[in-house]
Amino acid sequence: MSTDDMTEGEQSMQINPQRAEALAKNLSDVYQRVERGASGRKACAVQTPASLNQTLPAEHNVRLIAVSKLKPANDILALHQQSHSHLDFGENYAQELTEKAGLLPRSVRWHMIGALQTNKCKPLAEQVSNLYCVSSVDTSKKADALEKGRAALAQKQDLSNKLRVLVQVNTSGEAEKSGVEPEQTAELCRHVREKCPHLQLAGLMTIGAIARSQAAASNAESVNEDFVCLREVRDRVVQELGVAREELELSMGMSADYEAALAQGSDEVRVGTTIFGERPAKKDARVKEERAEEK
Ligand SMILES: *Cc1c(COP(=O)(O)O)cnc(C)c1O
Repeated sequence: MSTDDMTEGEQSMQINPQRAEALAKNLSDVYQRVERGASGRKACAVQTPASLNQTLPAEHNVRLIAVSKLKPANDILALHQQSHSHLDFGENYAQELTEKAGLLPRSVRWHMIGALQTNKCKPLAEQVSNLYCVSSVDTSKKADALEKGRAALAQKQDLSNKLRVLVQVNTSGEAEKSGVEPEQTAELCRHVREKCPHLQLAGLMTIGAIARSQAAASNAESVNEDFVCLREVRDRVVQELGVAREELELSMGMSADYEAALAQGSDEVRVGTTIFGERPAKKDARVKEERAEEK
């Protein structure tokens, strides 16, 4: 890429070649595991009765979101620009996402995966034109605010696509987890589909309980109840809203449990630590690392 094509933000960002190489290796390892996990599932689907098989999507690609929260934009640029040209990056904080989006190429597909305050929804959707998906919608107020922001953006520029949203479900029933209750999920999904013309209901997301993830990991026979729950909720939404099953993806699985999640039918995994390493404390995080000479 010539420097003429770069944004100012990119030009000011130095990429350490060793760091870039390590990141590329980590990403490629995760990709391989994801592919293995997804192909295992295809083999699984083949074993189901033919009648069931017809309801399963034939070719099934799994999306890997590289979760870059609290990591510098330099890391993202390294993975986006280099050999892999990875597209999907996930962030947890609206302001951090907005700042990074301003520094990085428009070709990045941003996923807002963190708990979102209602008052941050409209500005986020209005300011980040390459916001690809908001994975953490758990109230109709947040959906409405995202709708307003995306509508405002559409007024200003040609947008060919809707903003994808996932409804986050609190499958584990933990008080401190965000997400809509399983019983209320269909109603919220209906709201998005019927009242938010600039949003596309793309599926459901869960984080799940750490304890369940660990229990399932320590026993190859066991399944993670949170993942089972999300599938059941999806099936209920499909029934109640009369939408095609393939229209509703399941986003489940993080560093600790993405392979288990794939085995249980995940369409999208969100992996941070395994790709980028341990995260710094929020107060120590930098949106970008300056060039050495500017320090
Ligand atoms: C941070 C985060 C992840 C990634 O977690 P890792 O364990 O680092 O892979 C995935 N999903 C959500 C919602 C997150 O907040």
